Amino acid sequence: QASRSIPKATDAQKLELLSKVKCFIFDCDGVIWLGDKVIDGVPETLDMLRSMGKKCFFVTNNSTKSRAGYMSKFRSLGLNVSAEEIYSSSYAAAAYLESINFKKKVYVIGEVGIQEELDMKGIRHLGGPGDADKRVTLKSGEFMEHDPEVGAVVVGFDRNINYYKIQYATLCIRENPGCMFIATNRDAVTHLTDAQEWAGNGSMVGAIVGSTKREPTVVGKPSGFMLENISASLGLKPDQICMVGDRLDTDIMFGKNGGLTTSLVLSGVTTEEVLNHPDNKVIPDFVLPALPDLLTVKEK
Ligand code: PLP
Ligand code: CA
Repeated sequence: QASRSIPKATDAQKLELLSKVKCFIFDCDGVIWLGDKVIDGVPETLDMLRSMGKKCFFVTNNSTKSRAGYMSKFRSLGLNVSAEEIYSSSYAAAAYLESINFKKKVYVIGEVGIQEELDMKGIRHLGGPGDADKRVTLKSGEFMEHDPEVGAVVVGFDRNINYYKIQYATLCIRENPGCMFIATNRDAVTHLTDAQEWAGNGSMVGAIVGSTKREPTVVGKPSGFMLENISASLGLKPDQICMVGDRLDTDIMFGKNGGLTTSLVLSGVTTEEVLNHPDNKVIPDFVLPALPDLLTVKEK
C-alpha cells in the first residue's frame, strides 16, 4: 500500500479550530505533561484559551490518582484547575456506579485513586493496594472465602496486582449473582517512566477477562461515559467540542465516537510514522506538533 502523509494544521486551520470550538477536552499525559514535567508553553496556551472564553476539561485514563490527587498535580505544575474540570478514569468508575444507584460493595484491583473516589461517593469497598499482603499458600483442600456482598469488581492500574487478587476478583464475578466487571481503561502500555513503555491496565483487565470469560464495562477513554458527563451541561453541538490527545486508539477514538472535532498532538506516544502508517484507520481532523502550537498563530 502507498504511504500517505497527513499534514500538520496550517495557520488558517488553527484559526478555524479556535473560532469553531467552544470547549476543549484535553488528554493529560502527552498533551499537558510528560510524566512529572509540564510541556513547555502549555500554561500560556491554557491561559489564552480561557481568555478567549473556551471551556477546558482534562481527561485521563490514569486511575492511580483521584480528582483531588490530580488537582495537587496540576497545582504543582503551576496550573490552576478545579476538581469539576478533571475527569480521571478513577472518578469515572465511581460516577458510573453512582449513576446506576449501586448499593453493594466494590472489590478494587487498583490504587488509591479509585479508593478515594469511591469514598467521596460513599460507596463501600474492599481490596486495593493493601490486599497485596495476603498471599495464598495453596494446600490441599484450601478454599478462598469471598464476600457475597460484592456487586462490582473495578479493575484499574495496580502495581501490586498478584495471584490472590486475581482469584478474589474471579470468585466475585463468577459466583456473586449479577456482579459487574468494570475497567477504568484498557490501555495496552503506559509511560510510567519516560525511559520505556510499561504494561498498561489492559494487562490487568486481561487477566480478569481470561479467568472469567466476561468482557468489562469500560468507563475511561474511548468509552463515551466521561463525555456524556462533560457534555450534559454544556449545550454545545458535538463538533463545537474538540478532543485533544496524543493517542489514536483511546483519545482520538473517544472524540470520534462522540462526533467531536479531534486534534492529535505529536508531543506524546504517537509518531508521524504511526499516524501515516497504512494500517492506521484513525485519522484526526487536525494534527499539531504540540498544544502550544495554537499559541503561535494567535500571536501573529
Ligand atoms: N494509565 C497509567 C497508569 C499511566 O501511567 C498513564 C500515563 O502516564 C495513562 C494511563 C494514560 O494517561 P492519559 O490518558 O492521561 O494519557
Ligand atoms: Ca495521553
